[in-house]
Amino acid sequence: YISVILPLAVRKAFTYLVPTKLETQIQFGIRVEVPFGKNKLYAALVIETDSVAPEDYKAKPIISIIDQVPIIDEKQLQLWQWLSAYYACTLGEVMNAALPSAFKINSETRIMASSVFDEFYEGLTDKEYMIAQALKHQKELSIKEVQKILQQKTVYPLIKNLLEKKIIFVKEEMQQKYKAKTVTCVRLAEPYRSNSSKLDDAFKLCSRSNRQVEALMAYIQLSREQKSIRKQDIYEKATVDSTVLNALVKKKIFEYYDKEVSRLNVYEDTVEDIKELTPQQTQACTAIREGFANKKVTLLHGVTGSGKTRVYAELIQEHLQRNEQVLYLIPEIALTTQLTKRMQKVFGDRVAVYHSRLNNNERIELWQAVLQGKPLIMAARSGLFLPFSNLKLIIVDESHDGSFKQFDPAPRYNARDAAIYMSRLHDANIILGTATPSIESYFNAKSEKYTLVEMKERFGGIQLPKILVVDAKVEMKKRQMQSHFTSVLIHEMEETLKRGEQIILFQNRRGYAPILKCLTCTWKQECIHCDVSLTYHKYTNNMRCHYCGYHHRILPACPKCGDPQLTLRGFGTEKIEDELQIYLPKAKISRMDFDTVKSKQAHSMIINDFEEKRIDVLVGTQMVTKGLDFDNVGLVGVLNADSLWQFPDFRSSERAFQMMTQVSGRAGRKQRQGKVIIQTFDPSHPIIREVLNYDFNSFYQRELLERQSFKYPPYFRVIKLTLKHPKAQLLNEATRFFVTKLVQLLGSRVLGPSVPHVPRVRNY
Ligand code: ADP
Ligand code: ZN
Ligand code: ZN
Repeated sequence: YISVILPLAVRKAFTYLVPTKLETQIQFGIRVEVPFGKNKLYAALVIETDSVAPEDYKAKPIISIIDQVPIIDEKQLQLWQWLSAYYACTLGEVMNAALPSAFKINSETRIMASSVFDEFYEGLTDKEYMIAQALKHQKELSIKEVQKILQQKTVYPLIKNLLEKKIIFVKEEMQQKYKAKTVTCVRLAEPYRSNSSKLDDAFKLCSRSNRQVEALMAYIQLSREQKSIRKQDIYEKATVDSTVLNALVKKKIFEYYDKEVSRLNVYEDTVEDIKELTPQQTQACTAIREGFANKKVTLLHGVTGSGKTRVYAELIQEHLQRNEQVLYLIPEIALTTQLTKRMQKVFGDRVAVYHSRLNNNERIELWQAVLQGKPLIMAARSGLFLPFSNLKLIIVDESHDGSFKQFDPAPRYNARDAAIYMSRLHDANIILGTATPSIESYFNAKSEKYTLVEMKERFGGIQLPKILVVDAKVEMKKRQMQSHFTSVLIHEMEETLKRGEQIILFQNRRGYAPILKCLTCTWKQECIHCDVSLTYHKYTNNMRCHYCGYHHRILPACPKCGDPQLTLRGFGTEKIEDELQIYLPKAKISRMDFDTVKSKQAHSMIINDFEEKRIDVLVGTQMVTKGLDFDNVGLVGVLNADSLWQFPDFRSSERAFQMMTQVSGRAGRKQRQGKVIIQTFDPSHPIIREVLNYDFNSFYQRELLERQSFKYPPYFRVIKLTLKHPKAQLLNEATRFFVTKLVQLLGSRVLGPSVPHVPRVRNY
């Protein structure tokens, strides 16, 4: 008997029977094909090879063995077990998050849009409509995806209906998804390959064709420099085409063969010498090494532009010299392009990058590369799941960042904390680096649980940017505002452009305007699935829901009272980009937000254009606040600071402080001191003063007091329970019942229940 993990949210491991003839092939960490439920097949992962027969059910036999070698090791399983225990989810859910999808083969049904179906939505229920919509964007959906979209387990009746309405069809598949990429290469046929003295004969055989002789010569030359020679190489070298090569193959001088090639980006640029450390960086490195020696987590608190990256490079170097592996975690794609380029400049091909935009095949290749000891992996949070064999250093860069946390689906984990657990598992060193530590990390450092290392000066002795706060209320009263820009901001932008410097404008909302309303009867255009107003997007000229993706055309008049004049309220990045052009007619303005970086390349193109000064003003959402390093930014503008702390979350102040400080940190990094303008309607808010003075300490003290009096981390642990259901009344009753039970057990430690900020999302 063996125990396996199924890729499902089932509570425990399941036991299966191994037929005698398969017994010798069973080992820890391989996948086996098993039946589960009525007639489903899954690839399950073996985690115990000598289990006993289960008492409460009859173990079914496994069907086949999928792997000859294990795909995970004991340490990986330990990490999964910790995640499953600490974040209260099943091992199957952790496995689903951890394994690249090509490893998760199973006989899941997939549905596809039928080709006859063409927008005839009449007669569809809301849910059917949602699936039909989803299939317009995605060629096919698995049952799991359908369940996720509808947020319900039972989807068969709905799928049956859609089938009957001829909107979808079903596709069954059970196949290994991964295919290695190959190129056709050319080599000498025998006997020439193993006996070069016979080559003369080959030349004689083709002596009547100059072009064949040239191709053969080209091959011989190329074979001195490279191991494998692609058809393409010969075409280029000898300027011949396929007819010539085919002729040589026919004469049995050459033969073709397929060679597997890597899909991972190979770094081809030059590798530069690593720069000298500054005295501050040398000190930091020394202090960090001491922290490592004490086996403690190290928090590197360095102001923006202090050169933390250079410190990481130093420590990475030391570990690589000892042939150890390093995992460099970054919050999300927004940071990867620039940072990976910087690291590749130093470490060349030893760097590999793992992020959400890799396709399946690239993921598998990276997985294999890590297994074979790839030295430096730069990765988003899922990098934790890679199969490291000799991991000795983990860097969590921008460790305060909220996107280290996965909210949905399970495991709902914080990669920063999981990385700390992982470092113990591997006996590896770990650094959390940031200019704006999270309250929890800083608290741990202050209470000496972590080693605290600080860098207070910017590289090159440049002063931190000067921050100005502008009271938008006053300017509004005096009618000085132009659109959403204060006169101070407009003036400073003009001055900055005159000096040939660049500008970053930060507005934490995408789209054109978040509200379309009728001023006569107060009607607002809202999402039909969620309790939020739809955002107007000028580029696509429609109204969109930022929660579920629902979109709708613009109505010509108010549907309630018929007033033909509907008014847009509020503003997002699209509107800023649009209207700024009126005030800065000559400036080249670009935008970086979720809508403009959808494609794999778009994001790095914007960053590249900005680096090379083809863009003067970059307008963006929180994407522009993170870790970017530009030389020539003279001014940063925060358009609506208030919106940063006005949302109901105990961490909203912390986020606001971090975002303002981080975006300010993009200014004046190289030549001269930069400037920051913060527009707010509430200039007396304490956060504004603290950001203004770079006073992390006051902020930290004030925040700690609040956290303590309201029973929040780091003094208390919080578990958030979310209940959802399509029927509001049922949900309310269930919640009341549930809370009563909880209060009996936990008393005043239960907070709530309360209706969320957005009560209904995707009809739940
Ligand atoms: P941080 O990540 O702390 O905000 P960076 O690591 O991006 O700061 O460094 C800020 C800038 O200073 C970068 O452009 C970097 O290349 C430069 N820099 C940092 N340290 C050095 C050094 N020792 N020698 C030369 N340039 C450095
Ligand atoms: Zn109206
Ligand atoms: Zn919606």
